[in-house]
Amino acid sequence: MIEKISLANLPTKISKLERLSKEWGVNLFIKRDDQTGSEISGNKIRKLEYLLKIALDENCDTLITTGGIQSNHCRATAASAALLGLKCELLLRVGDVPKIEGNYFLDKLFGASINFCNADEYRESRDKIMSEIGERLEKDAGRRCFIIPEGASNAAGSLGYFDAMREIVSQERASGLYFDTVAVAVGSGGTYSGLCTANKELGLKKRVLGFAVASDREYFTEKINKINNEAAKLARLISQFSREDIEINDKYIGEGYAISRPEELEFISYIASKEALVLDPVYTGKAMFGLYNEIKEGNVPLGANVLFIHTGGIFGLFPKQEQFRF
Ligand SMILES: *Cc1c(COP(=O)(O)O)cnc(C)c1O
Repeated sequence: MIEKISLANLPTKISKLERLSKEWGVNLFIKRDDQTGSEISGNKIRKLEYLLKIALDENCDTLITTGGIQSNHCRATAASAALLGLKCELLLRVGDVPKIEGNYFLDKLFGASINFCNADEYRESRDKIMSEIGERLEKDAGRRCFIIPEGASNAAGSLGYFDAMREIVSQERASGLYFDTVAVAVGSGGTYSGLCTANKELGLKKRVLGFAVASDREYFTEKINKINNEAAKLARLISQFSREDIEINDKYIGEGYAISRPEELEFISYIASKEALVLDPVYTGKAMFGLYNEIKEGNVPLGANVLFIHTGGIFGLFPKQEQFRF
């Protein structure tokens, strides 16, 4: 059995969004994975529970990972490192000189060391740069480094969301509900992968609907299929996984990763004022905007029981506050 450490507040609550359900014509529920913690909040912590178990077993003293300047994953990793008494090196993608705010501010508070790269370096050689940082620290400072890929989206990380799907099933049993559709944002694919493999392996027959927030459907189908197959091997699953198991909608990326359109920000205001539910502009705001439009267009049947997974990201909202029009 593959083990993990316990960092997240689990199980996370599921509640019905009553007013939105009435307005949209479906039974809309939300799973509060934004409440897995405060400092370590969001979906990344379920994946890190597996990865950090490996890091601790290997006696590593330094975590290295990467993401955008407002990466929730990097913040969760920096917080986890501080929590476990480890050091943390982040490789952050930047354009201009970044303002110290939101997640990046928290990275600094948690004492992470920051390395920067530009968009080209990030796309082409982030893993190589992380390896070089690790080699340098091992050679010069005698550190033992553990490298976590972007978004903690690998086979071990995926298992965190396999477990989350199990958690959903036990919540269904306890409440007498059945969710026919599970909707989630897709940024690096690990979250979707875990939900998708559990759906098949446990015979749940749910529709797992992923809303891409960065790259297109082809990219994610390929990437997730690869993670699915590696996770299946790691966890010795009996099912076979292929591209057909994966449903990615890439119609709501908008202007691109972490860039907001006015209608997306308006949608975030609408949801907050209706249900006291705060979505983030980079992931959950785009994904739920996508879900709303797909329901309106009849691509999710009326009366369906839909579970939206709130994957977190609230700290990324504050650096965008000036773009909101009230
Ligand atoms: C990273 C992230 C996602 C996407 O999860 P992946 O496993 O990277 O696809 C969704 N929502 C939030 C808030 C995130 O930080």
